[in-house]
Order: sequence, then C-alpha cells, then structure tokens
Amino acid sequence: MIILLKSDADQKTVTDLKEWLSRRDISIESAYAFGSEVIKLEGDLDKIDFSLIKRFDCVASITKTRDSYKFASRHNYPDDTVIRIGDLTIGGGMFNVIAGPCSVESSEQIKEIAESVKASGASILRGGAFKPRTSPYAFQGLKSRGIEKLIEAKKLTGMPIVSEIVDISALPFFDHVDIIQVGARNMQNFELLKELGHTRKPILLKRGPANTIEEFLMSAEYILAGGNTNVILCERGVRTFENMTRNTLDIASVPLLKKLTHLPVFADPSHSSGRADIVPNLALACCAAGADGVMVEVHNDPVNAFSDGAQSITPSAFRDMMIKVKEICPILGKTVQC
Ligand code: PEP
Ligand code: MN
Repeated sequence: MIILLKSDADQKTVTDLKEWLSRRDISIESAYAFGSEVIKLEGDLDKIDFSLIKRFDCVASITKTRDSYKFASRHNYPDDTVIRIGDLTIGGGMFNVIAGPCSVESSEQIKEIAESVKASGASILRGGAFKPRTSPYAFQGLKSRGIEKLIEAKKLTGMPIVSEIVDISALPFFDHVDIIQVGARNMQNFELLKELGHTRKPILLKRGPANTIEEFLMSAEYILAGGNTNVILCERGVRTFENMTRNTLDIASVPLLKKLTHLPVFADPSHSSGRADIVPNLALACCAAGADGVMVEVHNDPVNAFSDGAQSITPSAFRDMMIKVKEICPILGKTVQC
C-alpha cells in the first residue's frame, strides 16, 4: 500500500498521520518522489480501514499494491482452480453447461427436462427447491421434497446437480447435491458464506445485482478463507437504467474476473436478461468472453412454469443453442463437457 502525500502538505497533519499509522502493527517507510512524500506500508494491512486515511488532509492518493481478496487473487495463486465432481471437470479448459428449470415442480417435470438437456449436451442439471422470491406470495419452492425430486433426476440421468441454499439450517438436505448455489440475493450473506466455507462442497456463487466485481471477489474470499477452495463464480447481471431486460449482463466482468482470479467463471444469460428470445445469443457471448460455463434455465412448458417462465428456453431452443456452443467453444480453446 502506498500513500502519496500532497506536495503542499501541512507538516502537522503529516505528523498526525504518521502517528496514527505507527499505532498499527505495520511497517512504515518514507520516500520522496517528484517533490512529494510517499509512505509505503507493509505487514498485516487487512485490519486497517483505509477510508480513514483519506480523512487526513495531507493525503493525495492511496494505491493498493496487493489484492484484498488474497486467496481468490490470481496474482497470489496464478494457476486455474480446477474442480472435479466425479468424472466431471470444471475449469481447466472445460466448458460446462448447467441447464434445467428455475424451480423443481414435480418428478415428471424435472426428469423430462433432465433427459432432454442431457441429450443436447448439458453436463450439470439445475433446479431450485428453496426459492428466494421477491414476493412472499409467489411460489416458494418444494423445499426438501424438491431436492428429493432433483436427486431422482440425478439417479436417472447420472448428471451432477446444483440447487440453491437460502438458509444454512437446510444444509443437511444438500448431502447428495453436488454443487450448492448461493443466489444473487445472498451474495453478501456473510454468515451463510462462512458456514459454507467450513464445508468442502463446490459452491456456485452468483454476483449480487448491485455488487461490484471487488465485492463479488470478497464474498468468494469468505468461502475460501474458511478452507473451501471449491468456488465457482457466476455473473448473472446487474441492475441498470435499462428496462428492456430484467438485468444487464455485465459481459466485461467475465474476462475481467478471469484475469483477477483463478476461480472458474460462469455466466447466467437467463437471469441477466429475463427474456428467452435473447438467451441463446447471450450464452454464445459468454463463451466468447472466456467463461468456463453457462447456466441456462430450460422448461418443457415455459408459459405454465411456476417461476421464471419468461426467461426459460424450450428444450428445442436449448438443443439449437448447444449446437452453436459446440461449434464455437473449440475455436476459443475450450472443450465442451457432455
Ligand atoms: C436462480 O438461479 O434461480 C436464481 C434465483 O438466480 P439469481 O440468484 O441469480 O437471481
Ligand atoms: Mn430462476
């Protein structure tokens, strides 16, 4: 961390700042560059609130020389994190497509969708059982019964499954769930993240609609700091002024995250757009941007879906999308995992 002081800094304020810093357990070194004093800080800087340093009038700027997300940082850990679930590999040049309905509705529904998305090349089945809904009057999910039905579809197809957790008390229901999703609304539920950090389950962490990329990485850090290194990031759109889409897919976050972190990066064209008509093209854009996978909502009867019917693509639209995914991934150096 480097603090650049103003060239006309008042010496009394400079002394106050140095005293304030010396009360912290860090080393301080001063140097002069282009007529201004520069203070270099070393040591355990995590406990220092740097926004307070800006309150000293003599400070011109503060430059971070290290990432605050130390375990998630590619600078600290250059090699890609590769997650293995049985025979399946996530990251490390593999492209995985997670597909399935927003909500598990019945055994027949999840099994029919599972078989069709598998036939088209999806490698992981999704299905929400514990649903975080904006309205308390909307369908809240089949809860543990939904997880049971998802497990039936897993047994039928052999596909690994992912489902969302909204409360740590539900963790015992996730024993046979291969990947636990932390949804956008819970991205900063720090107590939930800490608890999941104590498990060794792969976690699919979705970006909050109003969170910066750095906040997203700091949330991943909560899980990693607990010792669970199996974290997959998922960009799912952020809230902007645009109202023709449900959210705005921040496509730039994909290549940026790939640079900043070694964790696998997925993107969700369904929740980021809210409209089935543009989901396939957005999914292709995610491949082109360098994602390690996409998560797409697929429903066999979208107009009667219990949740997110507007953005759910049909099994046949999914099949067409997968044909294109399989064509473009090799050009980008990725292997589609089926
Ligand atoms: C979901 O995946 O069904 C979901 C609720 O996603 P998000 O948290 O991104 O809104
Ligand atoms: Mn959904």
